Amino acid sequence: MADDIVNTAEIERGDEIALDAVCGMTVDVELARARDLVLAFAEREYAFCGACCRDRFARSPIAFAVAGRAEP
Ligand SMILES: [Zn+2]
Repeated sequence: MADDIVNTAEIERGDEIALDAVCGMTVDVELARARDLVLAFAEREYAFCGACCRDRFARSPIAFAVAGRAEP
């Protein structure tokens, strides 16, 4: 029961923005999760604008993970 409340709060927040590591556009992470457009790689999650970018990342994650790294 408690888990349901937490999950709903996370979905409603909807302010988590990530950069698509393949094409560089901004992606709403919650929306990407709902559409199964998030991949985990090297202990990080990457969100994508569409299945085409997700699939390109899946084929060569190292090349895109380095380019799309957004840490300061
Ligand atoms: Zn994209």
